[in-house]
Amino acid sequence: MTTSTINALVRKNILQLQPYISYRDQLPLEDPVLLDANESPFGAYNRYPDSTQSKLKNKLSEYKNIGPQCIAIGNGSDELIDLVIKIFCEPKKDAIMIMNPSFAMYGFYAAINENKVIGLNLNDRFEIKKEDFIETTKNNPSKVFFICSPNNPTGNSVDDLEFFIRNYNGIVVVDEAYIEFSGKDSALSLLEKYPNLIILQTFSKAWGMAGARVGVAYASEEIITLINSVKAPYNVNSISQELIIEMLDDNTLFNENLKNILAEKQWLEKSLRDMDCIDKVFPTDANFFLIRFNNAEIIYQALLNENILTSKRMPQIPQCIRINVGSRDENQKLINVLKNIRL
Ligand code: PMP
Repeated sequence: MTTSTINALVRKNILQLQPYISYRDQLPLEDPVLLDANESPFGAYNRYPDSTQSKLKNKLSEYKNIGPQCIAIGNGSDELIDLVIKIFCEPKKDAIMIMNPSFAMYGFYAAINENKVIGLNLNDRFEIKKEDFIETTKNNPSKVFFICSPNNPTGNSVDDLEFFIRNYNGIVVVDEAYIEFSGKDSALSLLEKYPNLIILQTFSKAWGMAGARVGVAYASEEIITLINSVKAPYNVNSISQELIIEMLDDNTLFNENLKNILAEKQWLEKSLRDMDCIDKVFPTDANFFLIRFNNAEIIYQALLNENILTSKRMPQIPQCIRINVGSRDENQKLINVLKNIRL
């Protein structure tokens, strides 16, 4: 797919839009008197944030070795999912395609614009069936295909990503929210080859910054310009931009926490093994386990009664609950309850 064919996929009205960049970000003057934005002259956070997020993008550009023009920042990657659907999908007309089961927010944002959601049912190991992909794309055209890898809530990574990117006649979004836990290569290296590819990453998971709401899209310059054209001017607040720059400046804490979570994951996996109430712990590349219990309703309720909240996946995935890796204390509490359950 070439860059001109990308434009053909975009909603016509969106192609006319220009990114909103505040005056001060267009005219970066040396220490200007700022009387242009009706702000208060007092306070530590009295100024609007940088609408172009240029410092953060430059920092990320260094960190990931990708040009800043290929980076867009969102209020969490959730916002970027919303923007991508807005750019490419004509309301009430176009469709998106998702893996089934996968992350719920793709369908959530599609529903707002009455875009149809085409689900590709995964096989019993939660893999995409290639014949099904080919058949479905032929018979049910869609504009955007969301591939979640590692997939939430199943935990597995998608094999042979490039096959799907190459053979999909539209925009492919690879959602890598959990990539850091996987130890596997990101699809970032495929960006140069595929102008229809968008990669989403987030600071909410391995980076431990869910409260800051910062997500990142990496894509061709054309797609990034489109994202900038539809995003709210001040979509990422200044405090979050500063916090993420600090994290990237010194990633010691990130590395330490990641190591810790992965060690806890191993401990938890071992502790879950051979438990009477568990039928199967699915293999996972993420910081959570999808677990099939012998009676998931009872287990979920028993955990809740002990003040432990987990993520119910039934009835969509029969007898399954998604449980993420916590601190040792939290994991131990989980194990204690599970051990004592008599079905
Ligand atoms: N993608 C996936 C696969 C997720 O699981 C999540 C969060 N649950 C997100 C995106 C959204 O993350 P953010 O906090 O960056 O909006």
